[in-house]
Amino acid sequence: MHYLSTRGTAPVLDFRAATLAGLASDGGLYVPAQWPRFSADDIAGLAGLSYAETAARVLAPFVGDALAPAELRQLCGQAYGGFAHAAVAPLVQLDAQHWLLELFHGPTLAFKDVALQLLGLLFERFLADDARALTVIGATSGDTGSAAIAALAGRAGVDIFMLHPRGRISDVQRRQMTTVLSPNVHNIAIEGSFDDAQALVKAMFAAPGFADRFALSAVNSINWARLAAQIVYYFYAAVRLGAPARPIAFSVPTGNFGDVYAGYVAAQMGLPVARLIVATNENDILHRAFATGHYAAGEVVPTQAPSMDIQVSSNFERLLFDLNDRDGAATAAQMASFDRDRRLALSPAQRARAALFASARIDGAVMAQAMRWAWDEAGMLIDPHTAIGLAAARGAAGIDAPIVTLATAHPAKFRDAVERATGRRPPLPARLGDLFAREERCATLPATLSAVTDYIAARARAA
Ligand SMILES: *Cc1c(COP(=O)(O)O)cnc(C)c1O
Repeated sequence: MHYLSTRGTAPVLDFRAATLAGLASDGGLYVPAQWPRFSADDIAGLAGLSYAETAARVLAPFVGDALAPAELRQLCGQAYGGFAHAAVAPLVQLDAQHWLLELFHGPTLAFKDVALQLLGLLFERFLADDARALTVIGATSGDTGSAAIAALAGRAGVDIFMLHPRGRISDVQRRQMTTVLSPNVHNIAIEGSFDDAQALVKAMFAAPGFADRFALSAVNSINWARLAAQIVYYFYAAVRLGAPARPIAFSVPTGNFGDVYAGYVAAQMGLPVARLIVATNENDILHRAFATGHYAAGEVVPTQAPSMDIQVSSNFERLLFDLNDRDGAATAAQMASFDRDRRLALSPAQRARAALFASARIDGAVMAQAMRWAWDEAGMLIDPHTAIGLAAARGAAGIDAPIVTLATAHPAKFRDAVERATGRRPPLPARLGDLFAREERCATLPATLSAVTDYIAARARAA
């Protein structure tokens, strides 16, 4: 399988190179040159397979020759062997039409583990081929950092430096990062805001010589392999509910458009997807894009579902590429106009091609109502992100199919919001029970480029 940039001019890469590359050199994002197709028999053949086995089958056409089939199966088994639920991603029925797909049984209690646990192993495997070392850097306001650290801790050939704003993330979020004591994990508390931390990361990628010298890389959701790993659970859930004979709809709490885009890919591959509901919080750029055709950035407002507090959704460009009939030059022009004006307009033809998507904007009050409904009707405590998905699913009109809401975080990860809505405080799962007794390791640095680059230069093995 070959990978093309959405902006049409970067080199064509194989799966291995696309996994290690991140952003394409023309500023675009890598996508497969064509969508692999699964026949109805192929999909029926997934029935009864374990999650890891399903992952190996669904990922095989994307991986191509980059891994032998047995090796891909082994890596999937290893990635998902550590999940705390035997089904990895269990389905829970709420009522006659609604299900939750629990994606939070990984080490850091959020769905990002599903993709990152596999990505960490792919990095290690691909780097071993050419005895290269890589330096992963990132800034986090909470969830992504802990999932990336859990995925890369102890992996050969990779050092990870994760910046967070000192004192501005929750104790649980901080401890999930700083209690990982592997020598290749470096936590940095920045004396500043999340925006300061993110600006430092951008500056390091742009600093002359620094990015090349330390082989900088990122594990954010623009990484194709991360998205590919998320396609798997759409197949896994749909087959359990009757696909390919019965179409299934999904409701997806959405921020960067990575998770719901993976559902779109599953549909392009032949999975009968009845509808994809893009559920946003008050940061509703995607809802406005699908409802009105205007994709226009606003100001980020903080909500109780912070992992969706995003105004510019990087993966939207991948959908735009398809809406442009896979024309890289047209996509580059549309993105250039967005960079200039902070808005772009979808044509009637583009909107017609995006008809698989529905959308909803869910505010804090409706989100809390959905939490109470899940507790009263089904005895389930759900987190704010999941509640936004569930509220959108329950409000969707005209869907004559089962609707699966992706449960993207464990309720214990957002205990205060859950307690405010339901009066119940979800306990931390047993495997995290001693989180507050564990030793922490973290450096504190001023928010200056030289302080951070000096720190990394003294510790990264890639130089
Ligand atoms: C990251 C995240 C999301 C949003 O996923 P995207 O792929 O960015 O759309 C939703 N819920 C939780 C809990 C997350 O951590």
